[in-house]
Amino acid sequence: MRIIRTTQALRTWRRRQDPPGTSIGLVPTMGALHAGHRSLMQRARRTCQTVAVSIFVNPLQFGPAEDYRRYPRNLSQDLASCREEHVDLVFLPEPDTLYPRDFQTTVAVSTLAQRWEGEHRPTHFQGVTTVVTKLLNLVRPARAFFGQKDYQQYGVIRQLVQDLDLDTRVTLCPTIRDADGLALSSRNRYVTTSQRQRALALYQALSAGKAAIGRGMRRADPVEKRMAKILDTGHGLDVEYLACCDARTLEPLARLRGTVVLLGAIRVGGVRFIDNLIVRIRQ
Ligand code: AMP
Repeated sequence: MRIIRTTQALRTWRRRQDPPGTSIGLVPTMGALHAGHRSLMQRARRTCQTVAVSIFVNPLQFGPAEDYRRYPRNLSQDLASCREEHVDLVFLPEPDTLYPRDFQTTVAVSTLAQRWEGEHRPTHFQGVTTVVTKLLNLVRPARAFFGQKDYQQYGVIRQLVQDLDLDTRVTLCPTIRDADGLALSSRNRYVTTSQRQRALALYQALSAGKAAIGRGMRRADPVEKRMAKILDTGHGLDVEYLACCDARTLEPLARLRGTVVLLGAIRVGGVRFIDNLIVRIRQ
């Protein structure tokens, strides 16, 4: 497994990958790797000849009051995970490698990035789209893999790739959960067992929403009320948003039809949890 830390070395590596038919799969991550990240690497391994993983805690996607400094970092374990998943290349830049002192350019997606997460984390997606553009430019992968856990991020990146004519196919991979249903996240380690228990209410609420749609409910309002009620009964959590949306535009829906995504974000003890479920409605 090759480890590269500079953009220059990455470009040299990339030029050598060029024989026709060589497909590169890229898995961008912020490290603290868990089974969710590993499932992306496995998907890349199954579908591409060469697998590249980036590990970079991207300062640009954290707001001023967010957890950039205390975000979990565990390089030796991350590299061991990458080796176990037969990754070919790990790109491991420092912040000033990707953002040197005179860095002045950002890439921003508009409408799609302004909803939901964008409302609560105003500079977040601009940080994501800027770093992902750089990574896609450097690695020029045939495919890039993203988790459903961050569904809006996937949509924003798909839009970015389409709008900027980038030659990469964006692939969505399922959310990996703990046995009780909590979506794996590097931030789960911030909370105590009892806070974790309360955070589970988000998945339970989304599941109840999905079940209600499965039973034939076709108006968003009662589905959202049902979900909100479940979150109300879990004490000590703040709901940031909870909505039934069109899976492509992420616009809130009044009548449910087509592919719907149930999106939610809550805060428990100062830690944010996001989750979502996709429901395909056959009319
Ligand atoms: P992060 O390191 O949190 O920036 O995540 C890197 C990638 O892993 C993103 O595409 C995430 O959506 C994905 N990811 C994070 N958690 C999970 C999970 N529980 N299941 C599937 N993918 C995930």
